[in-house]
Amino acid sequence: MSGWREKVYDRVPIPVQNRILSWHGRRMLRERFGPEYDRLMSFFEESQWYSREELKSYQAKRLQRLIRHAYEAVPYYHDVMTDRGLTPADIRTEDDLVKLPVLTKHDVRENRSRLLSTTCDRPSLREAYTSGSTGPPIGVFWDSSVTVVNNACLWRCRRWGGFEFGRPYAGLLVHPIVPEPQSRPPYWRWNESWNQLLLSSLHLREDTVAEYVAEMRRVGVEALETYPSSAYVFAKLMEVVGERLPLTCVFTTSEPLLDVQREIVEDRFCCPVFDAYSQAERVMFSGECDRHVGHHVHEEYGITELLDEHDEPVASGTMGRVVATGLHNFAMPLIRYEVGDAAAFRVSPCECGRGLRLLEGVSTKADDILVLPDGRLLPPPAFMRAFKGFPGIEQIQVVQSEPQSVTVRMACTNEFSSGSEQGIRDNLRMRFGDEVEIIFEYVDMIPRSSRGKFRTVISTVPLSWGNASTSNLYQSD
Ligand SMILES: [Zn+2]
Repeated sequence: MSGWREKVYDRVPIPVQNRILSWHGRRMLRERFGPEYDRLMSFFEESQWYSREELKSYQAKRLQRLIRHAYEAVPYYHDVMTDRGLTPADIRTEDDLVKLPVLTKHDVRENRSRLLSTTCDRPSLREAYTSGSTGPPIGVFWDSSVTVVNNACLWRCRRWGGFEFGRPYAGLLVHPIVPEPQSRPPYWRWNESWNQLLLSSLHLREDTVAEYVAEMRRVGVEALETYPSSAYVFAKLMEVVGERLPLTCVFTTSEPLLDVQREIVEDRFCCPVFDAYSQAERVMFSGECDRHVGHHVHEEYGITELLDEHDEPVASGTMGRVVATGLHNFAMPLIRYEVGDAAAFRVSPCECGRGLRLLEGVSTKADDILVLPDGRLLPPPAFMRAFKGFPGIEQIQVVQSEPQSVTVRMACTNEFSSGSEQGIRDNLRMRFGDEVEIIFEYVDMIPRSSRGKFRTVISTVPLSWGNASTSNLYQSD
């Protein structure tokens, strides 16, 4: 939901909120499912067993269409290809992609409008912001077909976990679906269109976790969709109060899944965790099958390359920069886009027999969990949306050394205004409550960590679990 809707939503009674969410769910259903989804899903069910050669041949066909379109209708690519003396006939397979340069986030930021196709229907496009794991967020566009392909890959992953759309499940996600001041249950809402229980990240505490579990049990929830950090907080709190809730599977995405997180989540929900990895830029999608030995790359979605510092492909088993070409976005083609993460192709294929290659060691964000004075533990997805939609922010870092205070460091351009600061402050207060002092610091540039990673959330406050405590997630980095 967009900002104004959230404001209206906060003021209406809970049954009306449920109806708004179900209405919103129905709209998303129409966008994401339908005959094209059914067609793709049945193709994906078959193509996952294709050989590497068959998959490459499928990719080549789609790549040729994309390249021709980019040359004819995307000013940026027309110029890049013309400058290099290339025509669409020169780029026919994955191996020909080296003729084109790697596209960096900086390139996208500088050429955003020239990367848009002149034939796209601009008002119908979806705009999404990159997560900023390696720098400031960038708005990228995609058309409706990408929404459907992405959804088909997502639900293929869920089928690998033995879960089908339509079965009851819970989501512990980013939207503040229960206003923060609410101090009594229900700390959840019901999206009837999806059979989905939406759980509030902002109210999950040691003294409320049993109520969450009881509601999930009452509804007959079979799976949980969330982020590694959120799943971790949930499972640790369940451990503190001695709860277990058997599910079919837990699905995580968007953050690295640490062993310590997987272990406790699998223990408390008595089922395997299926982790997936994708980006807002929609250039690649990958997820675990039931062997859990890495992420299968959904080759039908995009062409994934792993490159060394000289833009040469790395050998299997060696870490490289993830560079990917989305094969379905004709509105804003991103060709050889540098995602900003690193990974290695697994040397041996998966024993499941699928032809989709395996990625291992995917290295993305390394963010801590915030600790609030009322004892709440807020994983980054629960509050990073507070920064969304404010122009002029180049970099963000949220730093905490004590529960009572949070420092927001930002590198901004002239576009950033004091009104935006107030907007962010209000958004954060809505999530943190009034007891947390929010300090803004403006800097020219936020340095990377000693390991070269850009860290968005750094907290040195230990995580308290009942009478015990552990250090925050990345304090050893
Ligand atoms: Zn497999």
